[in-house]
Amino acid sequence: MISNELLIRYGELSLKGRNRNVFIRQLTKNIKNAMTGLPSVKIKAERDRMFLTADIETEMAEVMERLPKVFGIHSFSPVFKCEPTLEAIYETALKAVGAEETEGKSFKVEIRRTDKTFPYITNELQRMIGAHVLKNFEDLHVKMRQPDILLHVNIRQDNAILTSKVYPGAGGMPVGSAGKTLLMLSGGIDSPVAGYMMMKRGVKIDAIHFESPPFTSELAKEKVLDLAEKLCAFGAIVRLHVIPFTEIQQVIAKQIPDGESMTTTRRLMVQIADRVREEISALGLVSGESLGQVASQTLESLTAINDVTSTPVLRPLIAMDKSEIIDIAKEIDTYDISIRPYEDCCTIFTPARPKTKPKLDRVKRFESFTDFEPMIEKAIQERRTYKLPRVEEDTFDDFL
Ligand code: ATP
Ligand code: MG
Repeated sequence: MISNELLIRYGELSLKGRNRNVFIRQLTKNIKNAMTGLPSVKIKAERDRMFLTADIETEMAEVMERLPKVFGIHSFSPVFKCEPTLEAIYETALKAVGAEETEGKSFKVEIRRTDKTFPYITNELQRMIGAHVLKNFEDLHVKMRQPDILLHVNIRQDNAILTSKVYPGAGGMPVGSAGKTLLMLSGGIDSPVAGYMMMKRGVKIDAIHFESPPFTSELAKEKVLDLAEKLCAFGAIVRLHVIPFTEIQQVIAKQIPDGESMTTTRRLMVQIADRVREEISALGLVSGESLGQVASQTLESLTAINDVTSTPVLRPLIAMDKSEIIDIAKEIDTYDISIRPYEDCCTIFTPARPKTKPKLDRVKRFESFTDFEPMIEKAIQERRTYKLPRVEEDTFDDFL
């Protein structure tokens, strides 16, 4: 029999003193969101933990699939509750252990007596419950260090709570507890991972994507929508803003020398992203840049790009190797989408030899011969916003 109730332990949340209630409320909301479509699921938050019940067995199975993706959870365990009497604990201990695979497994009992008036001392209880379990599960053996099954019994005044298995949670902080940012989302491997990592630290994200039709196809946009949708699994509602970027890229290709055109492209992307950011009241920009990966990701290039704004541009992948990024992309299920072979706007317009050490004053001088402002305004005006799951929005309402 599987339990219809889970005990959820908070992650770093417990460290957060005064903000604690805000975090708990946000986590409760995110778990509820993640459990959409499962009507029997109910959540009850306490100061230092949460209980989730699902009265329909298939719904509990679904909960077990979805819960490991919700940030702000340290771990969770199926729980079995009973009256705080020895008889009831004996019976419930068998249920809790019976919910696990026992064949050839090791086992240990751990007692916590929150109710100190309970008429047996801890060591005595440990021995008694252990012996009772072993009598009923002959395929188990006792092991004190790292047992396969750890039967934890918490005896409280009102009830006893038993757990036999601890599942790791996603860690991090509840998404939304650390404000909102705008993620620059290409169709590549890196930027979805960057978004995921920011979400892990409690940040809610909107995403912005630059497309250059007809050089980039509808399928390239589909790919980005699929990536944004994947990120929704981690507890956030993501909106995607798609910016038409063809005209600007064509002007750059004509007006800016090859060596500097990549830097200018990035600078314009960041300027546009920054204005959208302001409109949606987000506090920072996020990109998937990683130091030295390509010409536009040297410190010199990043300096030239950053020059267009004082808004923090967060780059959670900056010190990571590509192989480490790929590992995370696989883990969060974005990798297979990212490697679909559709061109990104930057790939198409990439000059043969972009400078790895662009000089800011040169870049600025080349840019000064063109008035980009009307093009920037037009691109922002003509953007399309998609709410995920996928519904196209004609108007731009801040409905979050
Ligand atoms: P990725 O795998 O995320 O595409 P990359 O290694 O290909 O990254 P670049 O193409 O140089 O690197 O892009 C660096 C960052 O700039 C991306 O991680 C992303 O944050 C942003 N970016 C690039 N292209 C776009 C785009 N078309 N729309 C939105 N953001 C973009
Ligand atoms: Mg890219």
